[in-house]
Amino acid sequence: LSQKLQNVFKNLRSKGRLTEDDVKAALKEVKMALLEADVNFKVVKQFTKAVQERAIGSDVMNGLNPGQMVIKIVNEEMVKLMGSETTEIALRPGQQITVIMMVGLQGAGKTTTTAKIAGKLKQKGKKPLLAACDVYRPAAIEQLKINGEKQEVEVFSMGDKNKPVNIAKAAVEHAAKNGNQVVILDTAGRLHVDEDMMDELIEIKENVDVAQTILVVDAMTGQDAVNVAGTFDEKIGIDGVVLTKLDGDTRGGAALSIRAVTGKPILYVGMGEKLSDLEQFYPDRMASRILGMGDVLTLIEKAQSEIDIDEEKAKDMQQRLKKADFTFDDYLLSMEQMKKMGGLGNILGMLPGLGGGKMPDIDEGEAEKNMARTTAIIYSMTKKERSNPSLLNPSRKHRIAKGAGVDISEVNRLVKQFEQAKKMMKQMPGLMGGRGRGGKMG
Ligand code: GDP
Ligand code: MG
Repeated sequence: LSQKLQNVFKNLRSKGRLTEDDVKAALKEVKMALLEADVNFKVVKQFTKAVQERAIGSDVMNGLNPGQMVIKIVNEEMVKLMGSETTEIALRPGQQITVIMMVGLQGAGKTTTTAKIAGKLKQKGKKPLLAACDVYRPAAIEQLKINGEKQEVEVFSMGDKNKPVNIAKAAVEHAAKNGNQVVILDTAGRLHVDEDMMDELIEIKENVDVAQTILVVDAMTGQDAVNVAGTFDEKIGIDGVVLTKLDGDTRGGAALSIRAVTGKPILYVGMGEKLSDLEQFYPDRMASRILGMGDVLTLIEKAQSEIDIDEEKAKDMQQRLKKADFTFDDYLLSMEQMKKMGGLGNILGMLPGLGGGKMPDIDEGEAEKNMARTTAIIYSMTKKERSNPSLLNPSRKHRIAKGAGVDISEVNRLVKQFEQAKKMMKQMPGLMGGRGRGGKMG
């Protein structure tokens, strides 16, 4: 029963359901926003289709209109999609050497990110070794050496006359002798994904015990990121992604594309050319950046926090109900909530057995007037009286009636109804979630 009731209340709190038209109209806007953010169009299509299925028939939260409700769902799904608990590169335990291989296209930011990660590892008390495996790009080795110097970490290189796989093997041997717990292989990229490049990376992976393959992707590449990430994951297998150049004006749609296609976590984001500009990845920040609907999201947050407060109050009330500790203050609160839920008639219309779309035959105007009088009576009580109704002797009741401008018989009736309600609640363990004589109800 209590589950059923909770559902009823959830529905009551909302202003109806999202129709197919609501959802489609709002998703049109969302699609535009995602494409503008450079999310790959196939991913946009897949993603919005999945959201559409979830959204149709959902409740519209109080404080939001249907369009905003759809955006709330979209935002949640984006966070879910990009979210991951793995926001650190996993290191092997103990004295084992963790080999990290950096892969990605030329100019993506591999060499820079290698040095950035080395800095993070150093902060954690590790002694990383950087290995210069890019023997093609002019000055690539020099670039890594300069960066390594800045970070005060050792750089292993064998010039540009050796094969990358041999440099990688030698670097790991060097690390074992030298007490480096982590080796980061800075590999070469190409302007486009090609076979030679893949073969070379595969060769390294076959000959060196690589623990983590990290794909570095330029956030500005947008649409292309999907192909790049897909191919790298398929051919050599990746464990995580670093998205660079997010300090630019791109909205970062690549983050969503990459995650959707590979399912691999985004570990860090590059926020500048400086070696300290590497940040943790926050799915919620990324989602709102990609959506680019800051105003709407702020509004949604506000509506959500109001509901959270309501739910907290309701929970607190339920707790006290369990202990049969129901006071007139709770009574007030429950009336307030009923009003928020759209009036008594509305609620009764939705209760099982009474609803089905047809309104029960009650005089709503009369009911609301009664509610107002009841509120006045409770407001005329002292704080002590509200929390301890047994204090209500005849002279106090008289004072209250006068204060509320009603007859004393009405005060008596309210107190009686209140006591009855309390008793009833005690006898309904199923509703209260406790255990009782008859077992579970409903
Ligand atoms: P690689 O070819 O993959 O090794 O790429 P590099 O590390 O050489 O980086 C290419 C260029 O991108 C360099 O000029 C870097 O300074 C720059 N770069 C790398 N990461 C970032 C970043 O997060 N933000 C910005 N603004 N520039 C970056
Ligand atoms: Mg490089």
